[in-house]
Amino acid sequence: MRKLVYLSLGSNLGHREANLRAAIERLAALGEVAAVSSFYETEPVELARQPWFLNCAVALWTEKMPKQFLAALQGIEKAMGRQRTQPKGPRVIDLDILLFGNSVVDTAGLTIPHPALHQRRFVLEPLAEIAPEQRHPVFKHTVRELRDALPAGPAVRKASPSPRKRTSPPRINADEGKG
Ligand code: ADP
Ligand code: MG
Repeated sequence: MRKLVYLSLGSNLGHREANLRAAIERLAALGEVAAVSSFYETEPVELARQPWFLNCAVALWTEKMPKQFLAALQGIEKAMGRQRTQPKGPRVIDLDILLFGNSVVDTAGLTIPHPALHQRRFVLEPLAEIAPEQRHPVFKHTVRELRDALPAGPAVRKASPSPRKRTSPPRINADEGKG
């Protein structure tokens, strides 16, 4: 059965935006990408002395089972050159499962919903952009409610869109000759 999975993507090494875009392209092999949030500049949380992250949230329809899906995510992380050196340290790409339909999973290698989902602004801010009414299957609150209940903490700011993503011509051309 097809399920809607919500993912958190993060990068703080190399060309962060290119890394997120490359990961999203690779995710298309696991199912149908339904939504991608804006990219957010986020202050590191667990290990403060490292570069800021670029984070986003992605919604994707998949036929895979949770464990199989996690293995596929880890395959993408590996293919993109992620090295597990320092726990919580800098990474080219981090792919975390936030929600998997309404499934609740609690095994040694996989916890769904993600155990820190409700505590992290760098996860909830992008997720609230694409799924504000989605309910947490354990806490029952919506993503928007969880986001609004967060205490002040490390900074999370929407990044300005990349020029390559422009959908209308630059204003400087549109206004040319209008004096
Ligand atoms: P981080 O906690 O910073 O994301 P890693 O990406 O290295 O660290 O992941 C550590 C382990 O977390 C993985 O090996 C994986 O088995 C486990 N894990 C448990 N639940 C999840 C989840 N919901 N999404 C992704 N990984 C998970
Ligand atoms: Mg991870």
